[in-house]
Amino acid sequence: MAAPPEPPIDERARLLALDRFQILGSGREQAFDDLARIAAHVCGTPIALVNLIAFERQWSKAHVGWDAPELPREASLCSHTVAQRAFFEVQDAAADPRFANHPLVKGPPGIRFYAGAPLVTPEGQALGTVCVMDRVPRTLSEEQREVLRALARQAMNLMQLRRGLVELRESNSERTGVQRALKETEERYRDLFEGASDLIQAVSPDGRFLYTNRAWRDTLGYGPAEIGSLRLFDVIHPQHRGEAADVMQWVLEGGDVDTAQLVLVSKDGRRIVAEGSLSCKKVDGQPVATRAILRDVTERRRTEERLRASEARTRSILDNMTGGLITLDGSGKIESLNPAGERIFGYRREELVGRHLSLLLPEPPGQDKASYLKAAFPKALGRVTEWQGRRKNGEVFPFELSMFEFETEAGRYFAGNIRDVSERHEIERLKKEFVSTVSHELRTPLTSIRGSLSLLASGMLGELPGDAQEAVEIADRNAQRLIGLINDILDLERFESGKLEMHMGDVALDDVLQRSAEAVRGVAEKLGVALEIKGGAARAWGDADRLVQVVVNLLGNAVKFSGAGQSVTLEVERKPPFVEVRVIDRGRGIPKALQDAVFERFKQVEASDAREKGGTGLGLAICKTIVERHGGEIGVTSEEGRGSTFYFRVPESASVAEARAS
Ligand code: ADP
Repeated sequence: MAAPPEPPIDERARLLALDRFQILGSGREQAFDDLARIAAHVCGTPIALVNLIAFERQWSKAHVGWDAPELPREASLCSHTVAQRAFFEVQDAAADPRFANHPLVKGPPGIRFYAGAPLVTPEGQALGTVCVMDRVPRTLSEEQREVLRALARQAMNLMQLRRGLVELRESNSERTGVQRALKETEERYRDLFEGASDLIQAVSPDGRFLYTNRAWRDTLGYGPAEIGSLRLFDVIHPQHRGEAADVMQWVLEGGDVDTAQLVLVSKDGRRIVAEGSLSCKKVDGQPVATRAILRDVTERRRTEERLRASEARTRSILDNMTGGLITLDGSGKIESLNPAGERIFGYRREELVGRHLSLLLPEPPGQDKASYLKAAFPKALGRVTEWQGRRKNGEVFPFELSMFEFETEAGRYFAGNIRDVSERHEIERLKKEFVSTVSHELRTPLTSIRGSLSLLASGMLGELPGDAQEAVEIADRNAQRLIGLINDILDLERFESGKLEMHMGDVALDDVLQRSAEAVRGVAEKLGVALEIKGGAARAWGDADRLVQVVVNLLGNAVKFSGAGQSVTLEVERKPPFVEVRVIDRGRGIPKALQDAVFERFKQVEASDAREKGGTGLGLAICKTIVERHGGEIGVTSEEGRGSTFYFRVPESASVAEARAS
């Protein structure tokens, strides 16, 4: 038997070409069946086929008188026709040594005759055949051969037509697929645009709206039907049309704008500030629309403006404050300083920001700055404390500082009010100096005046006429009061400046009370006020004379402000580690609001008290300094119309006094 023909050299290309026809395995088709029938009829054979030679098989697209639609390629007679790419005829296969042993010849169906015309593509690839077979030997006429060739060409034409159709169908279905996808994308975008919270618009170059989304229409208050007749400049705020026209022109000329601001006006006249990006859509290089994606920032702008105004207000308050204001971060670094603060310390803001607060303080005596600050800083929180500061020129000066703490997102901060009190201190010092100088200067001549007046009043220098006697007595009393005042002023000044030495020791309070009572007994009797002493054996650590001074003062007041027939009680009680002395009267009492104030200099409940009752208005201030120098405290409880209880407590022993003083 003849070996099956070698596959053509360009077999791969041939198979690819066959594949493009997508015919293998397709169903029966009338046109091909017709071709096979015509072939059988023209050639007078019982068998006719339209065959295709695939990779490993022969496959029949149409067959007449033959019922094996598929054969292995090596059993295919047509593969010879395909290999030769030319008409091929075997007139008697049994007598032909090439085919005598061929299974189709030898076995059923016992083929003796074969003739095939190749199906050749325009590119010259042979894909199959139109062939006829018979079980008896035959010879075709030239005409029959010609018809067979023509039928093969027709089969090829049919295949090409068929392929065109398949491709058309595919491209159609592809196109509808693309269209569907396009439609879906468009709908998705439309949904996105419609649902977006940004205002989206597309405007033609001549200003007509091509598209607006829902947010746009809702914000500007137009219905979809109204958009058609609307022009861009209808919705641009009249005062901002010029700038809008410029932006639009710029965009139309091809410039994209990432952050444009358009001031719009809604249908009902509201001003809307919109911010966003603008771009231009072009077709064939020609602008067809400007597109804008905007955000309504009206509220944000308004808030920003309010914030800016409030910031400006705050800034101008800070800038014009006469007091200094400093802010510090949690670690004590300076964050900001207002102009008054700059003036106080003599630095410019830039020189201080980022530096530590300690730059503004002198070296504290006896300790390092860090530990001083650590201890002093918390004390300034929420109250006024006095500090020593250092100016840029090195000058050390006193300032008052009150701090408050505040939290921000960036952490904990402190703000401090600063008041330069160096001037005030200086004035106070001068005032005190003046008062004490004047007092000193006055005391000597006053004492001699008073001496002369006493002499005159006593009659030792001779009898005075009635009126003159009275006048001299008045002058004497007033001179006495003046001397008392001057002594008090000088005492207070000495106490406060620490010039007065205290002679501390163990004091029997009984003695103090007795001595004090003796001192006021005369006045008390004159005013008809009884004195009672309720004392136990109590001791205190102090200066006996100064304690007598305190009690005399309190007793004197109590007597002065009692009515005739009333009594004043003096009592002492141990309240370890203190001892308490109380002076109780049943007189007019002190209004609640003034109970603390009476301990200040020259403070009186009634303006006329000093004149009418005698006194300087300094007594209680002196008592307070003395008691505090003892490490004790002084106070009053009183009910108007029912009397007052003045009390003071001093330490019982030296150790308590020392502990209090430190
Ligand atoms: P003065 O030397 O004028 O008494 P003080 O400092 O001792 O000055 O007292 C101040 C003022 O306190 C008095 O002028 C008076 O108005 C009031 N005051 C002091 N003690 C009493 C008291 N026991 N009862 C009522 N008022 C008093």
